[in-house]
Amino acid sequence: MKPPPFAYARPATVDEACALLAEHGEDARLLAGGQSLMATLNMRLSAPELLIDINRIDELAGISLAGDALRIGAMTRHVDVETSPEIARHAPLIAEAMPHIAHAAIRNRGTFGGSIAFADPAAELPACAVALGARFELRSTGGTRTVAADDFFHGLYDTELAPGEILTTIEIPVIAPGYRSAFMELARRHGDYAMVGIAVHARLADGVIGDARLVYFAAGERPVVGRAAAAAIDGKAPSDETFEAAAAALDGDLDPPSDLNADPATRLHLARVLTRRALAQWAA
Ligand code: FAD
Repeated sequence: MKPPPFAYARPATVDEACALLAEHGEDARLLAGGQSLMATLNMRLSAPELLIDINRIDELAGISLAGDALRIGAMTRHVDVETSPEIARHAPLIAEAMPHIAHAAIRNRGTFGGSIAFADPAAELPACAVALGARFELRSTGGTRTVAADDFFHGLYDTELAPGEILTTIEIPVIAPGYRSAFMELARRHGDYAMVGIAVHARLADGVIGDARLVYFAAGERPVVGRAAAAAIDGKAPSDETFEAAAAALDGDLDPPSDLNADPATRLHLARVLTRRALAQWAA
């Protein structure tokens, strides 16, 4: 199926893109990698009058280190994040997650910012961003504001992005001494969206777990923070019993949805399995 007709604009700067968004409002849509948007247009799930192509805005792409944070431009392609030495060194959780996103051809075009803005609850990067305490910069003709990843994802494909705003930068604190990460997901085939997945980020100091962040994806309408699971392991020494306690505590954290892949009970069971496995990998 072909997309409905649309007008096309290709601004060269973020300011120009913001001005176009302000002028056209809900009738316009940003085109990043197009890996999700073009499918929704072709299926006629969306029919914007204007596509604003942000692929030629140089200031939106690239990865840099600024003080104690990595700054990732929204238009940085998945493949460039996947192969970045800075990401591998300072945000190993992201590096571990990248190969699980779709397939190489999609990662060649898809963008970090597109994944965050699209907010698919089964996507890997929103969960990693929440686990790592990322911050997002949103720009409009009215100025720039910064939103914590925890506050950004409201629900199914629903975010803090207001009409007229562009996500410009993802800022991720560099991994601090003593911290480690682990990432795991279960999918029917490699490259498929996950049936359930987990991003773990926590400190191990003097043989004790601290500041644990366990974030689940494909387990709710947005990335779900496993607060009860984290409370079950914070202050404890890593062991099979500790990890079992985290898995058992998931009842208090997850109320997974049903879909073609799995019913809620199966998803909860799989989340428990992943919790045990991911924590064991994290501790190893
Ligand atoms: P686009 O498709 O261009 O845009 C998506 C939406 O975000 C649009 O509404 C657009 O207007 C908005 N948007 C984009 N950039 C911005 C911005 N900077 N500011 C504000 N709004 C913006 N993803 C996964 O995470 N895991 C998977 O396993 C996975 N599997 C896939 C399998 C297939 C077969 C396909 C086709 C896609 C898959 N994806 C998966 C999606 C892929 O990762 C996309 O790259 C991503 O969802 C969207 O990024 P994009 O750059 O292509 O954005």
